Amino acid sequence: MLDPLAYLHEQLEQWRREGSYQRLRVLESESAAESRFDGRQVINLASNNYLGLTTHPKLREAAIEATRKYGVGSGAVRTISGTMSLHLALEERIAAFKHVEACVVFQSGFAANSGTVAAILGPEDHIVSDELNHASIIDGARLSRAKIHVFPHKDVVAASRILAELESGPGRKLLITDGVFSMDGDIGPLPGLVEAAERYGAIMMIDDAHSSGVLGRNGRGTVDHFGLHGRVPIQVGTLSKAIGVLGGYVCGSRDLIDFLYHRARPFLFSTSHPPAVAAACLAAFDVLEQEPERIQLLWDNTRYFKSCLSSLGFDTGLSETPITPVITGDAALAHQLSRELFEEGVLATGIGFPTVPKGKARVRTIVTSTHTRHDLDCALEALSKVGKRLGLIAK
Ligand SMILES: *Cc1c(COP(=O)(O)O)cnc(C)c1O
Repeated sequence: MLDPLAYLHEQLEQWRREGSYQRLRVLESESAAESRFDGRQVINLASNNYLGLTTHPKLREAAIEATRKYGVGSGAVRTISGTMSLHLALEERIAAFKHVEACVVFQSGFAANSGTVAAILGPEDHIVSDELNHASIIDGARLSRAKIHVFPHKDVVAASRILAELESGPGRKLLITDGVFSMDGDIGPLPGLVEAAERYGAIMMIDDAHSSGVLGRNGRGTVDHFGLHGRVPIQVGTLSKAIGVLGGYVCGSRDLIDFLYHRARPFLFSTSHPPAVAAACLAAFDVLEQEPERIQLLWDNTRYFKSCLSSLGFDTGLSETPITPVITGDAALAHQLSRELFEEGVLATGIGFPTVPKGKARVRTIVTSTHTRHDLDCALEALSKVGKRLGLIAK
Protein backbone atom coordinates (compact mmCIF):
# COMPACT_ATOMS: atom_id res chain seq x y z
CA MET A 1 0.00 0.00 0.00
CA LEU A 2 1.23 3.46 -0.84
CA ASP A 3 1.85 5.70 2.16
CA PRO A 4 -0.59 8.61 1.80
CA LEU A 5 1.84 10.76 3.83
CA ALA A 6 4.80 10.06 1.52
CA TYR A 7 4.73 13.66 0.30
CA LEU A 8 5.96 14.78 3.71
CA HIS A 9 9.10 12.71 3.31
CA GLU A 10 9.70 14.17 -0.13
CA GLN A 11 9.34 17.69 1.22
CA LEU A 12 11.74 16.94 4.08
CA GLU A 13 14.27 15.55 1.60
CA GLN A 14 14.03 18.72 -0.44
CA TRP A 15 14.66 20.87 2.65
CA ARG A 16 17.71 18.70 3.43
CA ARG A 17 19.06 19.26 -0.08
CA GLU A 18 18.46 23.03 0.21
CA GLY A 19 20.17 23.23 3.60
CA SER A 20 17.06 24.58 5.34
CA TYR A 21 16.27 21.42 7.27
CA GLN A 22 16.61 22.06 10.99
CA ARG A 23 17.35 19.57 13.68
CA LEU A 24 16.10 20.55 17.13
CA ARG A 25 18.82 21.53 19.54
CA VAL A 26 18.29 19.86 22.90
CA LEU A 27 18.68 21.88 26.09
CA GLU A 28 20.09 19.71 28.85
CA SER A 29 20.33 22.30 31.61
CA GLU A 30 18.38 25.31 32.81
CA SER A 31 17.75 28.01 30.25
CA ALA A 32 20.36 30.57 31.25
CA ALA A 33 23.09 32.82 29.85
CA GLU A 34 25.30 29.75 29.56
CA SER A 35 23.50 26.48 28.96
CA ARG A 36 24.20 22.93 27.84
CA PHE A 37 22.84 22.01 24.44
CA ASP A 38 23.54 18.67 22.75
CA GLY A 39 26.24 17.86 25.28
CA ARG A 40 28.06 21.13 24.95
CA GLN A 41 28.30 24.17 27.24
CA VAL A 42 27.58 27.28 25.15
CA ILE A 43 26.81 30.96 25.51
CA ASN A 44 23.09 31.13 24.87
CA LEU A 45 22.12 33.97 22.53
CA ALA A 46 18.94 32.23 21.45
CA SER A 47 16.52 32.56 24.35
CA ASN A 48 13.86 35.16 25.12
CA ASN A 49 14.81 34.97 28.78
CA TYR A 50 15.63 38.70 28.77
CA LEU A 51 15.82 39.17 32.53
CA GLY A 52 17.01 35.75 33.61
CA LEU A 53 13.68 35.02 35.31
CA THR A 54 13.47 31.38 34.14
CA THR A 55 15.70 30.50 37.09
CA HIS A 56 14.91 33.30 39.55
CA PRO A 57 14.69 31.88 43.10
CA LYS A 58 11.47 33.76 43.86
CA LEU A 59 9.69 32.33 40.81
CA ARG A 60 11.04 28.86 41.51
CA GLU A 61 9.83 28.98 45.11
CA ALA A 62 6.43 30.35 44.12
CA ALA A 63 5.96 27.52 41.63
CA ILE A 64 6.99 24.85 44.14
CA GLU A 65 4.79 26.28 46.88
CA ALA A 66 1.77 26.50 44.56
CA THR A 67 2.34 22.92 43.45
CA ARG A 68 2.45 21.72 47.06
CA LYS A 69 -0.69 23.63 47.91
CA TYR A 70 -2.78 23.21 44.77
CA GLY A 71 -1.33 20.29 42.81
CA VAL A 72 -0.07 20.21 39.26
CA GLY A 73 -3.17 20.89 37.17
CA SER A 74 -6.27 23.05 37.11
CA GLY A 75 -8.53 20.21 36.02
CA ALA A 76 -10.62 22.03 33.44
CA VAL A 77 -10.99 24.97 31.10
CA ARG A 78 -11.56 28.34 32.73
CA THR A 79 -15.30 28.45 31.98
CA ILE A 80 -16.10 25.03 33.45
CA SER A 81 -14.23 24.64 36.73
CA GLY A 82 -10.65 25.60 35.89
CA THR A 83 -10.61 29.18 37.18
CA MET A 84 -8.44 29.13 40.28
CA SER A 85 -8.00 32.04 42.68
CA LEU A 86 -4.38 32.19 41.48
CA HIS A 87 -5.55 32.87 37.91
CA LEU A 88 -7.68 35.78 39.06
CA ALA A 89 -4.93 37.12 41.29
CA LEU A 90 -2.55 37.08 38.32
CA GLU A 91 -5.03 38.88 36.09
CA GLU A 92 -5.63 41.56 38.71
CA ARG A 93 -1.89 41.94 39.23
CA ILE A 94 -1.24 42.44 35.52
CA ALA A 95 -4.15 44.89 35.10
CA ALA A 96 -2.81 47.00 37.97
CA PHE A 97 0.75 46.83 36.61
CA LYS A 98 -0.41 47.95 33.14
CA HIS A 99 -2.78 50.65 34.50
CA VAL A 100 -5.83 49.16 32.76
CA GLU A 101 -9.26 48.10 33.96
CA ALA A 102 -8.97 44.38 33.36
CA CYS A 103 -6.88 41.52 32.05
CA VAL A 104 -7.39 37.95 30.88
CA VAL A 105 -4.60 35.39 30.80
CA PHE A 106 -4.35 32.81 28.03
CA GLN A 107 -2.25 29.65 27.83
CA SER A 108 0.24 31.40 25.54
CA GLY A 109 0.85 34.67 23.75
CA PHE A 110 -0.06 32.85 20.57
CA ALA A 111 -3.46 31.90 22.00
CA ALA A 112 -3.99 35.45 23.32
CA ASN A 113 -3.46 37.00 19.89
CA SER A 114 -5.24 34.49 17.73
CA GLY A 115 -8.07 34.01 20.22
CA THR A 116 -8.70 37.73 20.63
CA VAL A 117 -8.57 38.80 17.00
CA ALA A 118 -10.80 35.89 15.96
CA ALA A 119 -13.29 36.63 18.75
CA ILE A 120 -13.85 40.35 18.29
CA LEU A 121 -14.15 40.51 14.47
CA GLY A 122 -16.31 38.81 11.86
CA PRO A 123 -16.47 38.44 8.07
CA GLU A 124 -17.88 41.95 7.57
CA ASP A 125 -14.93 43.57 9.38
CA HIS A 126 -11.44 44.75 8.39
CA ILE A 127 -7.97 44.14 9.79
CA VAL A 128 -5.18 46.55 8.91
CA SER A 129 -1.95 44.77 9.73
CA ASP A 130 1.82 45.41 9.46
CA GLU A 131 3.44 42.99 7.00
CA LEU A 132 5.84 41.73 9.67
CA ASN A 133 3.26 41.07 12.36
CA HIS A 134 3.58 37.80 14.26
CA ALA A 135 2.12 34.56 12.92
CA SER A 136 -0.39 34.43 15.79
CA ILE A 137 -1.90 37.72 14.60
CA ILE A 138 -2.07 36.44 11.04
CA ASP A 139 -3.76 33.23 12.16
CA GLY A 140 -6.25 35.17 14.29
CA ALA A 141 -7.02 37.41 11.33
CA ARG A 142 -7.65 34.38 9.13
CA LEU A 143 -9.83 32.70 11.76
CA SER A 144 -11.94 35.83 12.11
CA ARG A 145 -12.68 35.73 8.36
CA ALA A 146 -12.42 39.53 8.33
CA LYS A 147 -10.85 41.18 5.28
CA ILE A 148 -7.10 41.52 5.76
CA HIS A 149 -5.26 44.64 4.54
CA VAL A 150 -1.49 44.40 4.92
CA PHE A 151 0.57 47.59 4.99
CA PRO A 152 4.34 47.84 4.37
CA HIS A 153 6.46 47.50 7.50
CA LYS A 154 6.03 50.46 9.87
CA ASP A 155 4.44 52.58 7.13
CA VAL A 156 2.03 54.85 9.04
CA VAL A 157 1.09 56.75 5.88
CA ALA A 158 0.07 53.56 4.09
CA ALA A 159 -1.89 52.33 7.13
CA SER A 160 -3.70 55.69 7.34
CA ARG A 161 -4.53 55.55 3.64
CA ILE A 162 -6.12 52.12 4.02
CA LEU A 163 -8.13 53.30 7.04
CA ALA A 164 -9.26 56.40 5.14
CA GLU A 165 -10.50 54.26 2.26
CA LEU A 166 -12.40 51.99 4.64
CA GLU A 167 -13.81 54.83 6.73
CA SER A 168 -17.13 55.33 4.94
CA GLY A 169 -17.71 51.61 4.29
CA PRO A 170 -19.36 49.06 6.58
CA GLY A 171 -17.60 46.91 9.18
CA ARG A 172 -15.33 47.50 12.14
CA LYS A 173 -11.66 48.22 11.62
CA LEU A 174 -8.81 46.82 13.68
CA LEU A 175 -5.35 48.39 13.33
CA ILE A 176 -2.77 45.98 14.65
CA THR A 177 0.99 45.95 15.11
CA ASP A 178 3.73 44.25 17.06
CA GLY A 179 5.20 46.59 19.68
CA VAL A 180 8.65 45.13 19.00
CA PHE A 181 9.12 43.02 15.89
CA SER A 182 10.43 39.63 16.83
CA MET A 183 12.80 38.97 13.93
CA ASP A 184 14.21 42.48 13.40
CA GLY A 185 14.06 43.97 16.88
CA ASP A 186 12.71 47.31 15.68
CA ILE A 187 9.94 49.16 17.51
CA GLY A 188 6.50 49.75 15.95
CA PRO A 189 5.58 53.38 15.11
CA LEU A 190 2.96 53.51 17.84
CA PRO A 191 2.35 57.26 18.16
CA GLY A 192 1.55 57.56 14.45
CA LEU A 193 -0.58 54.43 14.35
CA VAL A 194 -2.54 55.38 17.47
CA GLU A 195 -3.26 58.77 15.95
CA ALA A 196 -4.44 57.16 12.71
CA ALA A 197 -6.68 54.73 14.61
CA GLU A 198 -8.23 57.61 16.55
CA ARG A 199 -8.73 59.70 13.43
CA TYR A 200 -10.54 56.93 11.55
CA GLY A 201 -12.34 55.28 14.45
CA ALA A 202 -10.37 52.04 14.28
CA ILE A 203 -9.63 49.74 17.23
CA MET A 204 -5.92 49.86 18.07
CA MET A 205 -4.30 46.61 19.16
CA ILE A 206 -0.65 46.09 20.09
CA ASP A 207 1.23 42.84 20.59
CA ASP A 208 3.89 43.52 23.20
CA ALA A 209 5.37 40.02 23.36
CA HIS A 210 8.97 41.22 23.05
CA SER A 211 8.39 44.48 24.91
CA SER A 212 6.84 43.07 28.10
CA GLY A 213 9.60 43.32 30.70
CA VAL A 214 11.89 45.07 28.24
CA LEU A 215 10.46 48.50 27.32
CA GLY A 216 8.63 51.09 29.44
CA ARG A 217 8.93 51.74 33.17
CA ASN A 218 9.70 48.42 34.93
CA GLY A 219 8.99 46.70 31.61
CA ARG A 220 5.40 47.89 31.21
CA GLY A 221 5.70 47.71 27.43
CA THR A 222 5.49 50.02 24.44
CA VAL A 223 2.33 51.88 25.49
CA ASP A 224 4.19 53.04 28.58
CA HIS A 225 7.40 53.59 26.58
CA PHE A 226 5.59 56.05 24.29
CA GLY A 227 3.30 57.52 26.98
CA LEU A 228 0.13 56.32 25.24
CA HIS A 229 -1.83 55.20 28.32
CA GLY A 230 -5.58 55.19 27.75
CA ARG A 231 -5.24 55.33 23.96
CA VAL A 232 -4.66 51.66 23.11
CA PRO A 233 -7.81 49.65 23.88
CA ILE A 234 -6.19 46.23 23.37
CA GLN A 235 -2.72 45.36 24.63
CA VAL A 236 -1.39 41.84 24.38
CA GLY A 237 1.64 40.65 26.29
CA THR A 238 3.41 37.39 26.85
CA LEU A 239 4.42 35.64 30.05
CA SER A 240 6.73 33.31 28.11
CA LYS A 241 9.59 35.67 27.29
CA ALA A 242 10.97 38.24 29.76
CA ILE A 243 8.52 37.03 32.42
CA GLY A 244 10.29 33.67 32.11
CA VAL A 245 7.35 31.29 32.44
CA LEU A 246 4.49 30.61 30.01
CA GLY A 247 1.32 32.33 28.89
CA GLY A 248 -0.12 35.40 27.27
CA TYR A 249 -2.51 38.11 28.36
CA VAL A 250 -4.88 40.70 26.99
CA CYS A 251 -5.33 44.02 28.77
CA GLY A 252 -8.21 46.41 28.20
CA SER A 253 -11.63 47.42 29.42
CA ARG A 254 -13.76 45.24 31.70
CA ASP A 255 -16.16 44.77 28.79
CA LEU A 256 -13.43 43.58 26.43
CA ILE A 257 -12.24 41.04 28.99
CA ASP A 258 -15.80 39.88 29.80
CA PHE A 259 -16.47 39.47 26.11
CA LEU A 260 -13.31 37.37 25.70
CA TYR A 261 -14.40 35.22 28.67
CA HIS A 262 -17.46 34.39 26.54
CA ARG A 263 -16.04 34.14 23.04
CA ALA A 264 -12.26 33.61 22.92
CA ARG A 265 -11.92 30.02 21.85
CA PRO A 266 -8.60 29.13 23.53
CA PHE A 267 -10.12 30.44 26.78
CA LEU A 268 -13.30 28.40 26.31
CA PHE A 269 -11.87 25.21 24.87
CA SER A 270 -8.39 24.69 26.28
CA THR A 271 -7.40 23.97 29.88
CA SER A 272 -6.06 26.79 32.03
CA HIS A 273 -2.53 27.09 33.41
CA PRO A 274 -1.30 24.82 36.18
CA PRO A 275 -1.05 26.58 39.56
CA ALA A 276 2.76 26.60 39.35
CA VAL A 277 2.65 28.69 36.18
CA ALA A 278 0.22 31.26 37.56
CA ALA A 279 2.13 31.55 40.85
CA ALA A 280 5.51 31.93 39.14
CA CYS A 281 4.09 34.64 36.85
CA LEU A 282 2.70 36.49 39.87
CA ALA A 283 6.15 36.40 41.48
CA ALA A 284 7.69 37.71 38.25
CA PHE A 285 5.66 40.91 38.46
CA ASP A 286 6.99 41.47 41.98
CA VAL A 287 10.51 41.04 40.60
CA LEU A 288 9.85 43.54 37.79
CA GLU A 289 8.92 46.13 40.41
CA GLN A 290 11.55 45.23 42.99
CA GLU A 291 14.57 44.61 40.76
CA PRO A 292 14.57 47.27 38.03
CA GLU A 293 18.38 46.89 37.80
CA ARG A 294 17.76 43.77 35.71
CA ILE A 295 16.26 45.90 32.95
CA GLN A 296 19.13 48.37 33.27
CA LEU A 297 21.64 45.54 32.82
CA LEU A 298 19.70 44.19 29.85
CA TRP A 299 19.97 47.54 28.08
CA ASP A 300 23.64 48.03 29.03
CA ASN A 301 24.41 44.63 27.50
CA THR A 302 22.28 45.43 24.46
CA ARG A 303 24.12 48.68 23.72
CA TYR A 304 27.52 47.07 24.17
CA PHE A 305 26.79 44.02 22.03
CA LYS A 306 25.17 45.99 19.21
CA SER A 307 27.94 48.54 18.96
CA CYS A 308 30.58 45.78 18.85
CA LEU A 309 28.67 43.86 16.15
CA SER A 310 28.46 46.99 14.00
CA SER A 311 32.14 47.76 14.52
CA LEU A 312 32.95 44.27 13.28
CA GLY A 313 31.04 45.13 10.11
CA PHE A 314 27.99 42.86 10.39
CA ASP A 315 24.67 43.82 8.83
CA THR A 316 22.42 44.04 11.88
CA GLY A 317 19.42 45.65 10.22
CA LEU A 318 17.38 48.24 12.05
CA SER A 319 17.16 46.76 15.52
CA GLU A 320 16.52 49.05 18.50
CA THR A 321 16.12 46.39 21.18
CA PRO A 322 17.99 43.37 22.66
CA ILE A 323 17.03 41.37 19.55
CA THR A 324 19.87 41.79 17.06
CA PRO A 325 19.79 39.97 13.73
CA VAL A 326 23.00 39.15 11.91
CA ILE A 327 21.68 39.20 8.38
CA THR A 328 23.19 36.81 5.84
CA GLY A 329 20.50 36.97 3.14
CA ASP A 330 20.90 33.36 2.09
CA ALA A 331 19.18 30.77 4.30
CA ALA A 332 21.82 28.07 3.87
CA LEU A 333 24.48 30.60 4.89
CA ALA A 334 22.48 31.57 7.99
CA HIS A 335 22.23 27.93 9.04
CA GLN A 336 25.94 27.42 8.36
CA LEU A 337 26.82 30.47 10.44
CA SER A 338 24.66 29.12 13.25
CA ARG A 339 26.30 25.66 13.07
CA GLU A 340 29.84 27.04 13.05
CA LEU A 341 29.06 29.41 15.91
CA PHE A 342 27.88 26.42 17.90
CA GLU A 343 31.20 24.69 17.26
CA GLU A 344 32.83 27.83 18.71
CA GLY A 345 30.62 27.66 21.80
CA VAL A 346 27.80 30.06 20.92
CA LEU A 347 24.16 29.22 20.36
CA ALA A 348 22.38 31.60 17.98
CA THR A 349 19.66 30.25 15.75
CA GLY A 350 19.57 30.49 11.97
CA ILE A 351 16.20 31.74 10.75
CA GLY A 352 14.93 31.56 7.18
CA PHE A 353 11.69 31.45 5.22
CA PRO A 354 8.82 31.33 6.21
CA THR A 355 9.73 32.95 9.55
CA VAL A 356 11.43 35.80 7.67
CA PRO A 357 11.00 36.71 3.97
CA LYS A 358 13.14 34.92 1.35
CA GLY A 359 16.52 36.65 0.91
CA LYS A 360 16.40 38.02 4.47
CA ALA A 361 17.71 34.98 6.30
CA ARG A 362 19.69 35.66 9.43
CA VAL A 363 21.12 34.44 12.66
CA ARG A 364 19.17 36.05 15.46
CA THR A 365 20.94 37.01 18.66
CA ILE A 366 19.27 38.05 21.90
CA VAL A 367 21.32 39.26 24.85
CA THR A 368 19.95 39.06 28.37
CA SER A 369 20.60 40.86 31.64
CA THR A 370 22.44 37.77 32.91
CA HIS A 371 25.15 37.63 30.25
CA THR A 372 28.43 38.80 31.72
CA ARG A 373 30.74 41.10 29.77
CA HIS A 374 33.01 38.05 29.42
CA ASP A 375 30.14 36.04 27.87
CA LEU A 376 29.51 38.81 25.36
CA ASP A 377 33.19 39.19 24.51
CA CYS A 378 33.52 35.44 23.91
CA ALA A 379 30.43 35.48 21.70
CA LEU A 380 31.79 38.46 19.74
CA GLU A 381 35.12 36.71 19.30
CA ALA A 382 33.32 33.67 17.85
CA LEU A 383 31.14 35.83 15.60
CA SER A 384 34.20 37.66 14.33
CA LYS A 385 36.09 34.43 13.61
CA VAL A 386 33.22 32.66 11.84
CA GLY A 387 32.00 35.83 10.12
CA LYS A 388 35.44 36.27 8.52
CA ARG A 389 35.66 32.62 7.57
CA LEU A 390 32.29 32.79 5.79
CA GLY A 391 33.07 36.12 4.14
CA LEU A 392 30.30 37.99 5.96
CA ILE A 393 32.76 40.60 7.25
CA ALA A 394 36.17 41.76 6.03
CA LYS A 395 39.27 39.91 7.28
C1 LIG B 1 6.63 35.01 20.90
C2 LIG B 1 5.58 35.88 20.34
C3 LIG B 1 4.24 35.59 20.51
C4 LIG B 1 3.79 34.31 21.16
O1 LIG B 1 4.02 34.29 22.52
P1 LIG B 1 4.05 32.86 23.28
O2 LIG B 1 3.72 33.24 24.68
O3 LIG B 1 5.41 32.29 23.09
O4 LIG B 1 2.99 32.03 22.66
C5 LIG B 1 3.31 36.49 20.04
N1 LIG B 1 3.69 37.62 19.40
C6 LIG B 1 4.97 37.91 19.19
C7 LIG B 1 5.33 39.18 18.49
C8 LIG B 1 5.97 37.06 19.64
O5 LIG B 1 7.24 37.34 19.43
